[in-house]
Amino acid sequence: MSDFDIVVIGSGPAGQKAAVQAAKAGKQVALIERDALLGGACVHRGTIPSKTLRENALRVNNMRKNATLFQFKLSEDLEMATLIDRLDDVMKSHDEYMRRQIDRNAIKRIHGRARFLSPNEVEVTSVRGKKQVLNTDYVVIATGSFPRKPEQVPIDHENIFDSDSVLSMLYLPKSLAVLGGGVIASEYASIFQALGVRVIMIDRYPRPLGFLDKDLTDNFVNAFQDMGGVWMGNSVVKKVCFDGVNDVITELEDGRTIITQKLLCAAGREANVKDLDIDNAGLALDERGVIPVDGQLRTRVPNIFAAGDVIGPPSLASASMEQGRRAACNVIGLEVGSMPEMIPVGIYGVPELSSVGMTEQEARKAHGQIIVGRAPFSEIARGHISGNQDGMLKLVCDAEGRRLLGVQIVGEEATELIHIGQMALLSKSDVDIFVESIFNFPTLAEAYRVAALAVIGQRARRNSVY
Ligand SMILES: Cc1cc2nc3c(=O)[nH]c(=O)nc-3n(C[C@H](O)[C@H](O)[C@H](O)COP(=O)(O)OP(=O)(O)OC[C@H]3O[C@@H](n4cnc5c(N)ncnc54)[C@H](O)[C@@H]3O)c2cc1C
Repeated sequence: MSDFDIVVIGSGPAGQKAAVQAAKAGKQVALIERDALLGGACVHRGTIPSKTLRENALRVNNMRKNATLFQFKLSEDLEMATLIDRLDDVMKSHDEYMRRQIDRNAIKRIHGRARFLSPNEVEVTSVRGKKQVLNTDYVVIATGSFPRKPEQVPIDHENIFDSDSVLSMLYLPKSLAVLGGGVIASEYASIFQALGVRVIMIDRYPRPLGFLDKDLTDNFVNAFQDMGGVWMGNSVVKKVCFDGVNDVITELEDGRTIITQKLLCAAGREANVKDLDIDNAGLALDERGVIPVDGQLRTRVPNIFAAGDVIGPPSLASASMEQGRRAACNVIGLEVGSMPEMIPVGIYGVPELSSVGMTEQEARKAHGQIIVGRAPFSEIARGHISGNQDGMLKLVCDAEGRRLLGVQIVGEEATELIHIGQMALLSKSDVDIFVESIFNFPTLAEAYRVAALAVIGQRARRNSVY
């Protein structure tokens, strides 16, 4: 007989939700975590730390906008610890909350590093080197990801950082090169620029965040450059080195050289199966470097499931939680269907960006003629009141101007506002729902109504022509 029904490896968003879901169904569950604190990259090196820094960057940015009023100037040699002052409290409360939740659900918490001996045997090595072997019917692998290290970028975590180490910088640097144009690169580049660091973003593609609607990326690049940042697209990095004294030198393939005090390499993430010996379980990474799973999140070994960053995109905490929960449901045999396709994307840059459903470009490709309605925050009363006038909400509709296909938002609160559009998309509502409903006033959500009226206006004009 097995020691456990399910062993979950990793306590990030995916592992935590998998363990809790399985335990709530009455299963004997073990949760193995090698870090001292629970919560995974999400709590300790990713989502929560970067958003904590962002909160303070926004405050600094607002103060700077009102500099003449407050005579505001950041002190030289500002310590990073000051800028992420509440982070320790946030992380400890999260760890405590998770510990209580796991204990309450009678999940066996095991602190140690897991590796497979076979598909049904997981060995755990404690920090003191003590080993124990757990026999289990099922395993959920939720070991997350780690930053990719391009060979031309010698990350030393003192001058040249990756996204796991960037917040361990002691002082706010005067200048920072950010390599990459993805979500993590864009978030950190705009956050540090808002803090007054001179940031240069370098990427091989012409635009950052190429998967987003072009209106959103244009707005992001303009806002970044208005704050003083430099976007260098179409630029391939040849070599990076620390000059041994003060600066990091980045050489581009076209011969240009960029000198900055520090560098952040945010060139994607890789599935974390280090030390896991997945081959002992009969598993291997696929050509994309992730653990392949089917629609049920089952690997090619029938009793092993995987969820979260370890299975690849979208690599979001939000999606990882749902994958973890679903993996456990599938183990138990609870019917959950397939994962929803409509997953909202939230990017906590300065400004915030959020998207759900189709972009304007995708909709044009799929539906030919479409109708788009825009609502600049500068036309929304709440935008005037709160000083958030730099955003925009955009509704993408079919050619009739009736069915909603996608919602795109840039500006403060974008990641919250998107959920109204997400619900309308999920319930397959017509765009008219935003005009027929009464929204609180004054709110930024009113932008839905304004954009919907813009769509309906175009619809009326189009119909009168035919
Ligand atoms: C800078 C940054 C910002 C981000 N911002 C956002 C955001 O705003 N919104 C969002 O939705 N997502 C965001 N993400 C992504 C999000 O953090 C990840 O998608 C999420 O953490 C993945 O969850 P996970 O459970 O798969 O893995 P993780 O959170 O990586 O957890 C994996 C856990 O497994 C443990 N582990 C690994 N190997 C072993 C082993 N052999 N034995 C025992 N334990 C092991 C690790 O210690 C870790 O605790 C961000 C990521 C980064 C890096």
